[in-house]
Amino acid sequence: MDRGDLFVVSAPSGAGKTTLCSMLVNEIDNIVFSVSHTTRPPRPGEVDGKDYHFVSEQEFERLVAEDAFLEWARVHGNFYGTHRGQVMEKLAQGLDVILDIDVQGAKQVKKKLPAAITIFILPPSWHVLEERLRKRGSEDADKIKLRLQNAMKEIEEVTNYHYTVVNDELHEAFLELKTIVLAERSKTRRVLANKVDLSALKPGPDSWFLS
Ligand code: ADP
Ligand code: 5GP
Repeated sequence: MDRGDLFVVSAPSGAGKTTLCSMLVNEIDNIVFSVSHTTRPPRPGEVDGKDYHFVSEQEFERLVAEDAFLEWARVHGNFYGTHRGQVMEKLAQGLDVILDIDVQGAKQVKKKLPAAITIFILPPSWHVLEERLRKRGSEDADKIKLRLQNAMKEIEEVTNYHYTVVNDELHEAFLELKTIVLAERSKTRRVLANKVDLSALKPGPDSWFLS
């Protein structure tokens, strides 16, 4: 079994990254979501250990000091980090792993794991981004403004990503994201490692071709 691929997905807050990544994990086999650690308080409905590992700043600092994170960053005033051990274990099992991380984290991952496949999700317009953040209703007006302020800088990073998906109509965007993952799985290296044995693709002694 070959190692899995690492997919890094970034987007300005509200573009629909969480929605699209959940659809992907639900619909495709052998791809798992990396559950980050964060100091942000949980939103209503978010489950500890499923959406995030919600930790105190003290616990987060302890993990940083232990060098437990593949990457970590301060985003919109809170700390977020990807646990290295959890990701490496899944990749070694042959599973594909999705990291839903910000642009600072993506840069760190690219340096450490250059084979990572990077995908940026864009909203169709600024107006739609504002509307989605406001309608989601998970942050107050000041926090939404901070996220939009950061969005301007984040969007400039799109050119550093391998793929871009514009999330206008949800199912179309999902199809594009799914196509990217399936295309990466059809790379010759992966097909030869997982799906087909070239030595079995030669005529054997009982082959009609040789008779
Ligand atoms: P992110 O994880 O990028 O911050 P979310 O996945 O939470 O974004 O999406 C932000 C909001 O927009 C959510 O309320 C979600 O239901 C909604 N949303 C996501 N994609 C679409 C879409 N294509 N059309 C309309 N609403 C969407
Ligand atoms: P939210 O608070 O809306 O869940 O996430 C805010 C931002 O933090 C998003 O851009 C999300 O991708 C990013 N984020 C989530 N987990 C991580 C992580 O482990 N590392 C980094 N660098 N960013 C993360």
